[in-house]
Amino acid sequence: MTKFVLSRSQKKTTGPVIKRVLVRCPATGKLTPTGQIINEALWPKTKFNPARLTCPHCGEKHSWKKADAVLAR
Ligand SMILES: [Zn+2]
Repeated sequence: MTKFVLSRSQKKTTGPVIKRVLVRCPATGKLTPTGQIINEALWPKTKFNPARLTCPHCGEKHSWKKADAVLAR
């Protein structure tokens, strides 16, 4: 019985990790929330259409794509 418990506990059974999607402002270098959230486990398979956001750091509109995005808690 103990053996089963041990082998099971090695597998991490955390729930989905929800992350915020941020992009780096090209003008200030600061991370800017896109307002999107994503389950981290699905991130590699998720496709984002190129999107725009109004940047709170520099006031400009930035277009961003998945390659620009950074995940954060
Ligand atoms: Zn900006």
